[in-house]
Amino acid sequence: MASPYDAMWQELGLDLAAHEQLLQVLGGGYQQVFLGQPNRPAGMDYFNFVMSEVHGLRVKELVEAQAAGKKVIGSFCVFVPEEVVRATGATLVGLCTGADFAAEEVDKLLPRNTCALIKSAFGFKLGKICPFIEAADMIVGENTCDGKKKAYETMGKMVPNLYVMDLPQVKSDQGRALLKAEFARFLKAVEDLTGVTIDAAKLREGMRIVNDKRKALARLNALRAADPAPISGLDALLINQVAFYDDPIRFTGSVNALCDELEARVADGQGAMEKGAPRVLLSGCPMAVPNWKLPWIIEQAGAVIVGEESCVGERGARNLVDDSGQSVDELLEALVDRYFQVDCAIFTPNPQRLAHVEQMAAAYKAQGVIHYCLQFCQPYQMEALPVEQALKAQGLPALRLETDYSQEDAGQLQTRVEAFLEMLEK
Ligand code: SF4
Ligand code: SF4
Repeated sequence: MASPYDAMWQELGLDLAAHEQLLQVLGGGYQQVFLGQPNRPAGMDYFNFVMSEVHGLRVKELVEAQAAGKKVIGSFCVFVPEEVVRATGATLVGLCTGADFAAEEVDKLLPRNTCALIKSAFGFKLGKICPFIEAADMIVGENTCDGKKKAYETMGKMVPNLYVMDLPQVKSDQGRALLKAEFARFLKAVEDLTGVTIDAAKLREGMRIVNDKRKALARLNALRAADPAPISGLDALLINQVAFYDDPIRFTGSVNALCDELEARVADGQGAMEKGAPRVLLSGCPMAVPNWKLPWIIEQAGAVIVGEESCVGERGARNLVDDSGQSVDELLEALVDRYFQVDCAIFTPNPQRLAHVEQMAAAYKAQGVIHYCLQFCQPYQMEALPVEQALKAQGLPALRLETDYSQEDAGQLQTRVEAFLEMLEK
C-alpha cells in the first residue's frame, strides 16, 4: 500500500518493498502485544501514536531539521552522551534493533555466533529498511563488548560516516581518564560535524534537557512500586524504547503527563494488573524495538514486570549529571562522573550491577528476578550465573533465560516462566 512517506523513504535509499514488509510485521506485533492489554492508562495513546509514526512523522521531522541545517547522530549504546549532541541542537537517535532481517546477507559478514542485537543492526542496514541509519549524518560505534567492537570494523566499510568511540573496561583512574579523553574527542567531532562551538551555556542546556528526560523516567519507575502496579511492564518498556527515538522535550512532557495519571491511579488503588499479581524484575541485555517476546510471555502468564535492570531501562537512564559547572571542562568532568556509573557487563569487575539489581528488587518489591540474556552475549552470560547465585543466597528467586529474536523458543520460554511464577506464588 502506498504511504505518504514513500518519496521520503525512497530518497533515503530504503528498499520500499522490504520496508513495507517490516512495517507489516511491526504493526501486527504491536497490535497483538500492546493494544490488547487491559486497563491501559489513557496517557499511552501518545506512545501508540509515536510507534505508529516511528518511521514516518518522526523521520520527517528529522529530515526537515536537516534541511534547516541541523544534524542527526545515531548510536548503539547508552555511553554516547546525548548532552553533547543536544548542546549543538543536533538529535541523537538509537539505532539498536530488535528484529532479524536480511539474515542471509548478515551471515556473509558476521560469524553465526554473534548476538541477535548486532546481527539485527547489520540486517537493518543490509536490508535497507532503517530510515534512521540512512538519515544519520554520523553513526557512533563504541568499543564495548568484543562482538560490537569487531563488528564496527566491518560496519565501517558499509557506512560512510562511522565514528568509533573507545571506552574503558575497568573502573580505575586510568579508565576514567580514558572516558574523559574520549568524551572530549567526541565533543570536538560533534562540533566539527555541526559547525557549532560548544560553550558552557550550550552544554548546560543539553544537560538540562537530558536530565529532565531521566527525571521523568525515574518518576515513572518509582510509581511501579505500587501494588497493583499502575502500568504494565510492557508499556513501561515501550516508553523506555521510545526514549531513544522521540524528541526529548516532547517525550519528557508526555511521560510526566502519564505520571500525573498514574499517580491518580495509585491513589485510587487502580492498576494495569490485578492487585497481588506476582512481581518480577527483569535484568540483563537491552531490549530494542520490536523485541517484546519475553516481557509479553511474562505478563501473559499473569505476572507484572516492575522494573528493567537494562540499558533500555534503569541502567541506561538513572543518575543525573551535575550541571552546575561553569566551564566546559568542569561540565565534562560531571558528565564523566555520571556515565562512569553505568554498570554494563563489559566492565570487569562489575559489582555495582549486582548491587543495583538488589536495590531495584527491594525498591519495586519484586518477588523474583528474571535474568534475560541474548544468545552469544558473553558479557551478560558470564554475569548471569554469579547474579543468580547471589540473589538466591539472599532468598530472592531468580531464573536465567537465554533467547534470541526468533519465535521458535516461545513455547519453551512460556513453560519455564510459568513454572517460575508458580514458585513465586507459593
Ligand atoms: S549493555 Fe553495555 S554495550 Fe549495550 S547499550 Fe548498555 S552500556 Fe552499551
Ligand atoms: S547484547 Fe551482549 S554481545 Fe550483543 S551487543 Fe550487547 S553486550 Fe554485545
